[in-house]
Amino acid sequence: MDTALEPHWTTPDLHDAIRNHYDNLVDLYEDLWGEHIHHGFWDSREDKTDRHTAQERLVDELASFAPVARGSRVLDAGCGIGASAIRLAATLGCEVEGITLSEEQVRRATAKAHAAGVADRVTFRVADAMATGYPDASFDVVWALESCELMPDKAAFIAECARVLRPGGVLVVATWCARDTALDESESRLLRRIYRDFVVSHVLPIPEYERLCEKAGLTGTRAEDWTENTRATWELSSDIVRPLLRDPSYIWRLVRAKGIDIFRFINSVPLMRQAYDRGVMRYGVFRAERRP
Ligand code: SAH
Repeated sequence: MDTALEPHWTTPDLHDAIRNHYDNLVDLYEDLWGEHIHHGFWDSREDKTDRHTAQERLVDELASFAPVARGSRVLDAGCGIGASAIRLAATLGCEVEGITLSEEQVRRATAKAHAAGVADRVTFRVADAMATGYPDASFDVVWALESCELMPDKAAFIAECARVLRPGGVLVVATWCARDTALDESESRLLRRIYRDFVVSHVLPIPEYERLCEKAGLTGTRAEDWTENTRATWELSSDIVRPLLRDPSYIWRLVRAKGIDIFRFINSVPLMRQAYDRGVMRYGVFRAERRP
């Protein structure tokens, strides 16, 4: 297998880097990306919906694709600052537990759940999604929106999701994927730069996830490629860095406060755009069920 399709870091190094990255940049992500730390969803190139509305749309599309039934008990594996969890609680009456590696994200997500009036059914904590510690069959749905690419052991992650699902429960994942044909050396290099700057472990081609679901004993697997629906995220990238351009001194304040992470953060936007343009990166979604 291509080396760009294998873990880029050792797990302890990666987990330290993820914790530092999200603890350190929690405000910056919120300023530049908003609450939702993930792609947007657009119908077509003619669809001019703004980025934040498109991010909410992606959550709704993924909930329909799963599908997430009203009132489900959901594990949000890799919850960020809680945007999906809060939306699933508000729109579908779900009860959600969100887990992340970042203490700062837990704090921010908890404050947001209070502000949104859903704190009675949405909670957040630090836990590793590859070994959550929840009892077997705890959830109706496991939801992983753009966190799977950060998991070094994808098989362990999917097996853990299967274990905590009740029989008949649904796993739904949206994750950055690799093209399903061999990558040349410069394409692999581009992926490795993205792994470093976004603190990502590695990506896999979409069909590989169908095999991993089968290996974990899941059934009813369905995968789709949403690359065309998510592409505009990077075409609007100027929009993401606009606050920085409006006030260049902001960058220097950030550099003083946060160090080199800032340059990596800014640099990562054109890298992702390149990966989409060159067809190296695909946006994959899949859902599967635990056998009844
Ligand atoms: N799903 C959120 C956040 C995506 S950012 C959203 O769409 O807004 C990636 C998230 O995955 C971060 O919160 C990070 O802490 C989390 N993550 C990465 N690896 C993890 C692991 N092993 N266990 C738990 N969370 C993890």
